[in-house]
Amino acid sequence: MTRTESRKARILIADDQFEIRSLLHDLLSDDYECVAVASAEEALSLLAVEAFDLVLSDIRMGGMSGLEMVPALTRCAPDTVVIMVSGEQTVEKAIEALRVGAFDYVTKPFDLRHIEAAVRRALEHHSLRIAKRRHESYLEELIKQRTEEVDHLSYHDGLTDLPNRILFEDRLAQALHSVPSNGQLLAVMLLDVDRFKLVNDTLGHVVGDRLLRGVGERLSGCVRAGDTVARFGSDEFALLTQLREDDAAEMFRHVLEVLKRPFRIDEHELYVTLSAGISLSPTDGVDAQTLLRNAGSALHRAKEQEGNNYQIYTADMSAQALQHLALENSLRQALGREEFMLHYQPQVCIPTGRIVGMEALVRWQHPERGLVSPGAFIPVAENSGLIVPLGEWILRTACSQNMKWQETGMAPLRVSVNLSPRQFRQPNLVEMVDQTLRETGMAPQFLELEITETSMMRNVESAIQTLRGLQALGVQIAIDDFGTGYSSLSYLKNFPISTLKIDQSFVRDAVTDRADAAIVKTIIALGHSLELTVKAEGVETEEQLEFLRRLECDEMQGYLFSKPLPPEAFHQRWLASLSLDSQLEVSMA
Ligand code: C2E
Ligand code: MG
Ligand code: MG
Repeated sequence: MTRTESRKARILIADDQFEIRSLLHDLLSDDYECVAVASAEEALSLLAVEAFDLVLSDIRMGGMSGLEMVPALTRCAPDTVVIMVSGEQTVEKAIEALRVGAFDYVTKPFDLRHIEAAVRRALEHHSLRIAKRRHESYLEELIKQRTEEVDHLSYHDGLTDLPNRILFEDRLAQALHSVPSNGQLLAVMLLDVDRFKLVNDTLGHVVGDRLLRGVGERLSGCVRAGDTVARFGSDEFALLTQLREDDAAEMFRHVLEVLKRPFRIDEHELYVTLSAGISLSPTDGVDAQTLLRNAGSALHRAKEQEGNNYQIYTADMSAQALQHLALENSLRQALGREEFMLHYQPQVCIPTGRIVGMEALVRWQHPERGLVSPGAFIPVAENSGLIVPLGEWILRTACSQNMKWQETGMAPLRVSVNLSPRQFRQPNLVEMVDQTLRETGMAPQFLELEITETSMMRNVESAIQTLRGLQALGVQIAIDDFGTGYSSLSYLKNFPISTLKIDQSFVRDAVTDRADAAIVKTIIALGHSLELTVKAEGVETEEQLEFLRRLECDEMQGYLFSKPLPPEAFHQRWLASLSLDSQLEVSMA
């Protein structure tokens, strides 16, 4: 047997002479499965219904000749190999048969070994031919499959398998072409998972990815056939649907509602909320880009309102987006034009009433708008990256101002400088701080850096590295706005920090709200158990101060004592009398 498969090779013998048929049949049927027929016509009709690996055919038969049979055979059984059997007088014919597609020929009278060898060769050739054909069709199939995969990948999101932005825009453009029927509107809804980064940062990417898949699935479950749900990247999804204006609000509420049910991922039960921005066509645009841009502005507004809501685009959102852009532009020039300045707010030791430090707070003296508060421009500077050079300027200015004051001979005070999340992530932060200290000549123990809890929790490993670097310089670290983020106790223990700053929202309501009072109490106890200094900010009333004093809070800062002041006023009001030997005693109730 020459076949690789276990079945015997099948040979069809065609000869009009009975003796030759039987001779060949007897010779080959030990090793092969043989069928013998008496004419080319019979051979062809059998080949039409049964598969043979090899045909051994006489050339001259009554009726159709073997030579005429070959092309017909190649057509109906392209893989079958043919050996021609020829009388000596028909050798030329046999050669012609090779030309029309036969594989080999043998001549009569037979040399039996010759026949066996020819059959073996022919069957080997057949096996190779089959293998090659399989391989080719396998390759073809593979290429087709891969092409489909690549096509799929370029129009779908790898994580959720939902359409991606390209496909979404394509479908949106198509939908805009076909006029919506019976007064329906086309709605583009952009959705963003609120505080998704927190999930990712605290529970890891694997859980984050599964949450995103879950969100994708639920969204797909909310829509009708013909609608499109897409993922635009990270935690942003998009939905394209047609609806009647009256049904819109109901539909959007439904989507947000469906996503509110908790997601169960391993042992975690995650509650997520979404923000959504919606634009409607034709009201808010008739082309894809405008609709997406306007839905984006609406989403931005929804996010600003603390998330968990949807906003439908209104024209004033564009105006606001423009204003935002203008702010960013003038912010770019402000540093060179020296429009920034620092105000200083004293920080007071509660038991002694003495000033122990001051927080530097940046202000922007805008030529047309007047004094702009950091709450309005720090986020813009943060997003555009301008915070990096601005932050360096702030640190240098605060340190050299403090040096100037120290050089007047007063008791040296600590200056606290805020670091934004982006600054905190700068790989060269430690060197930058080190260099600033060297250049201004201020001793490191007089610098405290305020870093928010959320910014430290973003990447705990690298946060610890950075904090260690800063600690090695001799700089103090305070966690700002403590209580508003998501830090876990185990991390807190590992952070080389010196101070917790209780967020002002808790301080504000501590005397009226029992929950806030409990939080303040807990933070103070927690801080002290970790041997940290606890500072309260936003202290505005005597009652608040009294409350903090009773809980043995260490330091305070707030309007009760002083607003942040420009350097000259700060010096005059608080420092002028602060000589080394006579520290100011502040009268506090
Ligand atoms: P923060 O670091 O928590 O600063 C405390 C904020 O509370 C300051 O607002 C301060 O003026 C205000 N404040 C102080 N005492 C009281 C009080 O008794 N009652 C009330 N209601 N508020 C009080 P400001 O100056 O508007 O700064 C707001 C935020 O902007 C800061 O919060 C900080 O996160 C950021 N920021 C300010 N200056 C800088 C800076 O130089 N660099 C960076 N990266 N961020 C800054
Ligand atoms: Mg601060
Ligand atoms: Mg704060």
